This record gives sequence, C-alpha cells and structure tokens, in this order.
Amino acid sequence: MEFFSKKAPEARFAVNFLHEASVLARLIQDEMVNPAMEKSDRSPVTVADIAVQALLGYHLSQRIPGAALIAEESSSMLVGEGGRRLAAAAAEFIAATVPEFRKSAFRVFLDYGTGRQKTDCWVLDPIDGTKGFLRKNQYAVALSYLHKGKVKIGALACPRLSPGNQDLIAQAASGSIYIAVKGKGAFWTDDQSLEWRELKVSETSDPSKAVILRSFESGHTNVSEIDRISDKLGTVAEPLRVDSQVKYALLALGKGDIYLRIPSASTPDYVEKIWDHAAGKLIVEEAGGRTTDMAGNSLDFSRGHFLDQNRGVIASNGQLHDPILKVVSEVCRES
Ligand code: AMP
Ligand code: MG
Repeated sequence: MEFFSKKAPEARFAVNFLHEASVLARLIQDEMVNPAMEKSDRSPVTVADIAVQALLGYHLSQRIPGAALIAEESSSMLVGEGGRRLAAAAAEFIAATVPEFRKSAFRVFLDYGTGRQKTDCWVLDPIDGTKGFLRKNQYAVALSYLHKGKVKIGALACPRLSPGNQDLIAQAASGSIYIAVKGKGAFWTDDQSLEWRELKVSETSDPSKAVILRSFESGHTNVSEIDRISDKLGTVAEPLRVDSQVKYALLALGKGDIYLRIPSASTPDYVEKIWDHAAGKLIVEEAGGRTTDMAGNSLDFSRGHFLDQNRGVIASNGQLHDPILKVVSEVCRES
C-alpha cells in the first residue's frame, strides 16, 4: 500500500505497534480481574493503560530514539504499594508479549519521550475508554503523529470491535485496526488477516435517517441536549452509545453518521484532551467526513495537551455537517 512506502515509515511503525498493543490489551483483559487505581481526577487507570504506554515507549526507544510523546499516563501516579504492584504486573505482561522487554526499566519506558518539545510529536491514549475496558464493552488504543501541530497520521486499534458483528457494542473475540495518512486516505483491517480495505463514510443526507453516536458514559457528554438535537433533526433511530474513539471508527466505516460530544452540564468547562481525538479525527476526514467543534471551528491540536481553543466535538459524514451545526447552535442558544 502506498502509505506504507518509505515516505511514511511512521505509518508502518504505528500499525506494527497497534497490532502488538491489541494482543497485549486482550491478554491483560482476559487474565486479570482488573485491579484499577484512581488518578487524582478520579478517573481509573489499569494495568493495561500503563502496559500499552510502556510498550510504545520501549519501541520508540529502540526504533526512533529521541522521539517526543504526549500521552495520558505517567510514572508519577504509580505511588505506594498499589502503584508498585500495578507496574510490576504491567511489566510481566509486556515481557510475555515482547521477551526482550527489560522489566527493570519499566518506568523509564512508561515516561519515554514525554516532556520533550519537538516539531514532530507522537500522541497516545494507551487505553481510550478505560471504563468500557473494565465493563467489557468497547475501548481503543489511539496513536497519532503530529507535525507542527497538524495530525499527519492517525491510527486506532479497536481490539474488541468486529465491524461485521450485529451487536457493535458487545466485545468480539478479535478486533480491527484503522490507519489514515493525511492526503492519502484511510484504511482498515481485521487484526487477524491484515487485509486492508478503504474506509468510506456513509452517504446519508437525510438527517431523519442518521444514526447518532455518543459516549456510553452519560457523564462525558450532554445526553439531554443530544436528545433535543436528535428530536430537531427528526432522527428515528436511538443514538448508539459507544465508549472511546471506536465512535470515530464506526463513523469512518459508515456504521454511524454523526458523532456528538457536547460538554456535560455537570462539567461545562471540561477541556478535551488531544489524545482523545487526534487519531479519530484524521481517520474520519480521510474517509470523507468532517470534524469541528460545536461552533464549526477546526480542532486545534497545536496547543499541547489540550484542545483549549475548542468546545465540544462534532464529527459527521460531511454531508450532514452544516445541518447539524445549525441545530446544535439552536439548541445551545435555547438552553
Ligand atoms: P468516551 O468513551 O467517548 O466518553 O471518551 C472517553 C474519554 O472521555 C476519556 O478518555 C476521558 O479522557 C474523557 N473524559 C473524561 N471525563 C470527561 C468529561 N467530563 N467530559 C468529556 N470527556 C471526558
Ligand atoms: Mg481517552
């Protein structure tokens, strides 16, 4: 495939990593009764979150030494006996997948590349949708590559999403991988065969026929405003509740038409993190869709960890974007 050529070695690196990360995440999920710790913001962190990030740090240190990384986890939260046990368990799981991994350097690999300021930067959410992972629903590993604050490569592993399944939310035994390179299209494969197929968003142009995607966790979005937007658009189908950037994958596959992320009334000032959107945004755009914030502005990934110039996220198949933005602004004005 063209974008696996020498011109974009990062795309090959991303796919190889995601393939290994999927195996690791499934192994941890299958073998553990998921001991999770709470971070200072009360969000959960599991063995899988830190294992997948340390796996990336290990591969960066071997293949792209000096690389810069913005990622969700850090060794600073691994404090006390709980933190030590979580780190030891994660190191064991990685060594079972990659025998050369040096367990004693686990914390070095976990933090590898973070804190460096560079023009080119990797962005990782090791387990996006940790709550979905713990609940045995959907989750994703999201890796992207930024040049001067613009997303050049977006890649997602959805280790429990099998797009052929009737029930898209229930966990499948195997998963799928998605990759987009700016200007070169977006592709997906199931993670067993590695046969790449082009991604194309849906052609739905009638809002009443649209399928809306939204967070499974009601605390991550504004359910009542989404219901009002859905009423105004006249959509017949119930919104599909799915954890993580799997929503972007479903949009790019044409299995949904609109992704709405409206700040929750209980956290109105929530600022989105770049690792929750960078990979998914490029995959949807390269599949022919559109992504903006609620005001119709482009998402600005050039400002470090946060999308602090944007509020909410709206993604769609493109055709539906303008009608949705209009309804979103009407509903927001009314509330
Ligand atoms: P989703 O499964 O789409 O709801 O996305 C999961 C992501 O939501 C997590 O990775 C968090 O970074 C993010 N998140 C956590 N709290 C909030 C919040 N109050 N509003 C929006 N997103 C949040
Ligand atoms: Mg996340």
